[in-house]
Amino acid sequence: MAEFDLIERFRRAAGDADRETVLGIGDDAAILDIPQGRQLVATTDTLNSGVHFPDNAMAADIGHKALAVNLSDLAAMGAEPRWVLLSLSMPRGDMDFADGLIEGFMSLAREVPVSLVGGDTCSGPLSVTVTALGLAPAGGALQRSGARDGDLVVVSGVPGLAGFGLRQIGEGLEPGPDLIQALHRPIPRVALGAALVGKASACIDISDGLLADLGHIVEASGCGAEIRLDRLPRHQSLEGLGEPDRWRLQLTGGDDYELCFTLPERHAELLDDLAVTGGAGLTVIGWMRGGPEIRCLAPDGGSFEAGSAGYEHFT
Ligand code: ADP
Ligand code: MG
Repeated sequence: MAEFDLIERFRRAAGDADRETVLGIGDDAAILDIPQGRQLVATTDTLNSGVHFPDNAMAADIGHKALAVNLSDLAAMGAEPRWVLLSLSMPRGDMDFADGLIEGFMSLAREVPVSLVGGDTCSGPLSVTVTALGLAPAGGALQRSGARDGDLVVVSGVPGLAGFGLRQIGEGLEPGPDLIQALHRPIPRVALGAALVGKASACIDISDGLLADLGHIVEASGCGAEIRLDRLPRHQSLEGLGEPDRWRLQLTGGDDYELCFTLPERHAELLDDLAVTGGAGLTVIGWMRGGPEIRCLAPDGGSFEAGSAGYEHFT
């Protein structure tokens, strides 16, 4: 299979360009129109075989997840995803694998929707890099730095599902469908992110674990936080875990593509509407509180140390 054949498959899968795509796949670069009053929000993330997914992962899952993790970063900024570029390095000759990857990638791309407008294709160890471009109202994109004392700390969905799925696989068990979905087919919270613009004071996605990522909000905002462990969202798939094991998993297990955001108290009554518009369960897990750090409070009022937080490369 030649590079050209592969690119042609991507071009066909990408389909027709949308209105704001002046020029998509086929030239040296794409040309995109940015509507008046909006800003371009850009992000990129790489998934490497053996680091971000196991060597035997399904091609369609890899395609889905490579796109999902990037769209999750756009969601965390409150940006509406518009365009993506896909750089693929893969071993020579495996057409079935390429087709599976395109299928997983494009089925999520069509659903969002977002247009595939370019990329790069080369032979080498399996590695997938996606660049995602989105639009936000000028000056309106969500950042990590706006949280203030007294703001509610809110999380979408159920943190810990992906981490628990990964743990079960490591123990030779077969995780149930909810855990598998969280691990291999995460749904980026695109609608929620867009709905938070003009309302949330800070936002982040919790791909590195709830505590580690809330820590970024705390640091960027210069305001501490207090988390109530009895408020962490429950889920039937996690019921087998006792406490404090469940708390620890929900606080530090990574690979969840949920949003954690802070909401000024005066907007608290918007939470139900935000959950509906955002298509996600929302749980208030605590409050921003003065002081430099995050404190986790157990139901008995004692403070709880969750231990090392989040996944870091090169450590
Ligand atoms: P160049 O040599 O100018 O970099 P390429 O041969 O790499 O051009 O790519 C030709 C066209 O195909 C470009 O528009 C590029 O963006 C697109 N393209 C290449 N690989 C991919 C891919 N994996 N997915 C989407 N578009 C791709
Ligand atoms: Mg190229």
